Amino acid sequence: MSKSCDFCYAVESADNQILAGGDENNQVYICEDCITTVYGLLYGEENIKRDKKNKPKKKFKVDKVLTPKELKAILDSFVIGQERAKKIFSVGVYNHYKRVFRQSSIENETEISKSNILLIGPTGSGKTLMAQTLAKSLEVPLAITDATSLTEAGYVGEDVENILTRLYNAADGDVDKTQKGIVFIDEIDKIARMGENRSITRDVSGEGVQQAMLKIVEGSKVNISAKGGRKNPNQDFVEIDTTNILFVCGGAFEGLSDIIKRRVDKKSLGFGQGNEKKLTDEDVLKRIEPDDLVQYGLIPELIGRLHLIASLNELKLEDMIRILIEPKNSIIKQYQKLFEIDGVGLEFTDDALNEIAKLSLKRKTGARGLRTIIEEIMIDIMFELPELYGKIVTITKDTILTHKAEICDMKKIA
Ligand code: ADP
Repeated sequence: MSKSCDFCYAVESADNQILAGGDENNQVYICEDCITTVYGLLYGEENIKRDKKNKPKKKFKVDKVLTPKELKAILDSFVIGQERAKKIFSVGVYNHYKRVFRQSSIENETEISKSNILLIGPTGSGKTLMAQTLAKSLEVPLAITDATSLTEAGYVGEDVENILTRLYNAADGDVDKTQKGIVFIDEIDKIARMGENRSITRDVSGEGVQQAMLKIVEGSKVNISAKGGRKNPNQDFVEIDTTNILFVCGGAFEGLSDIIKRRVDKKSLGFGQGNEKKLTDEDVLKRIEPDDLVQYGLIPELIGRLHLIASLNELKLEDMIRILIEPKNSIIKQYQKLFEIDGVGLEFTDDALNEIAKLSLKRKTGARGLRTIIEEIMIDIMFELPELYGKIVTITKDTILTHKAEICDMKKIA
């Protein structure tokens, strides 16, 4: 039976936990909200620490570790396709938080080592979205950064430690919460050192940045300045232990499949020489080994810290169409809601969806193009929206060229 507060009769919920007092025969209950009220009466409202939403700040607590299946189900509601990558990511996140929250519950000398995740896939295929989705549902802070903006200390650019400042800010300045957050570092492939195998030329070697990253990824205590920017002796420092921060790195790794092909070719004569059916880049990427990443230009120590590697596929036309309509917060659902507020219906014909997906594929920015295309189409219609009360707007293939939609009365349809 759920407990209820003896003062306000509130029933226990995830947001409002109930504390018990008294003895076995005479238990009394009080909820967190009433404790806050009493604290305010005794010590003054102004002494209650509040978060950005003006809610009393609670000590960070996650006591439930979602199972890999539960995590995958959450991903399924937002991320289309990428089945294998979603599975690997769910297992990685589950292991990580199990280690963080439950390791101490078993008396044993074996220490579970930290395992971070590497996501390999083309731009706009869902890498960042996966990290965002799980961070949100686990209610842990997330900081996203681009590896190309990072530099070794002393160079122009952003110090690697600044990622932690961002995480600290995302955690509303709560150190405990920061230490259990997720850091997503995109474009990690762009800081690969130049290898013999690749022709990328860059002024500054990425190796120094990789070394600097290694320090925080492997788990260490780092002093950050709470305000970010260059360290300055007059600033206050906050110490962050990165041992329990989950690092997820992402990158497109163009040309990596050639490195894998070459390695596999050497081992098995015939691979890629016509004896085997032609393998796609996706098939090849499944055979990835850490050494291929060393060849690509990542330092072995860093690869050694990215235990789980998942590859995401390039999105196809069918995936693009599904992305438009299926995710819980799909762009079309968002627009339908915007229209609904003005009392207007919104529909897309199948060939309009098909055309939008086709145009997006042409832009080669993955699913990122979908939003841009729809926004371009909708501007003229949105301009008229408040005057369209009681109508249904239908977006057809024609609308995409002319930006003129078919408009009819809601009643006629009904
Ligand atoms: P990247 O792989 O470059 O990190 P993102 O995850 O940031 O790409 O994707 C950009 C946007 O495209 C997302 O915010 C989302 O709207 C959409 N998107 C990309 N991939 C998918 C997918 N597999 N399922 C649903 N939406 C996606």
